[in-house]
Amino acid sequence: MGGLAPRKLGREKLVIATHNAGKLAEISALMAPFGLECVSAGSLGVAEPDETGTTFEANAILKARHTCAATGLPSLADDSGLCVDALHGDPGVYTANWAGPKRDWMRAMRMVEAALDGAADRRAHFVAVLALAWPDGHVETFRGHVEGTLVWPPRGSRGFGYDPMFVPEGHAITFGEMDPDAKHRISHRAVAFGKLVAACLVAP
Ligand code: IMP
Repeated sequence: MGGLAPRKLGREKLVIATHNAGKLAEISALMAPFGLECVSAGSLGVAEPDETGTTFEANAILKARHTCAATGLPSLADDSGLCVDALHGDPGVYTANWAGPKRDWMRAMRMVEAALDGAADRRAHFVAVLALAWPDGHVETFRGHVEGTLVWPPRGSRGFGYDPMFVPEGHAITFGEMDPDAKHRISHRAVAFGKLVAACLVAP
């Protein structure tokens, strides 16, 4: 999206447009080698907009633009979710909603397991779309995904969200059991981030 050539990020401050501590930690770790000063939207008192989009791209752009308009700084948002094959891609863009207002991830994982209702096909993938918005209205988006299988009961206490029930393809352990650095090398967010780095960041 955007112009013919992707725009490069300078050394200015970058706002991470999320209030999700798990996403913030992962994005900050991915950004660390590039020497950009990252601050969270929450720490600047920017409220979260309603996610009214019906695609990951629409919601990521909406969140990045909202934070950018509120702060006057380039802003990076992530919209992500779990898409389960046997559930025709659900919970998809509504992944966070399945955790209820208290963001109870055990409840969310139980709902996925109940919806599967013993289905033999347990394939799923995580999707992440990163949107980078500049104060002049320019936006770029980057999509990543990682294929895997859902297990029950959940395993591991690392990561966040649905990590304890997701085993990425080619691995025997869940994201919840995996060392965070190992997850950061293969996750949907890492794939999207790799595309952002190639397009918009200057090597440190
Ligand atoms: P949203 O992008 O704020 O709509 O929320 C997406 C939701 O998807 C998160 O709150 C998590 O529950 C889930 N999710 C996204 N990425 C991951 C991940 O890397 N691991 C586990 N769950 C994730």
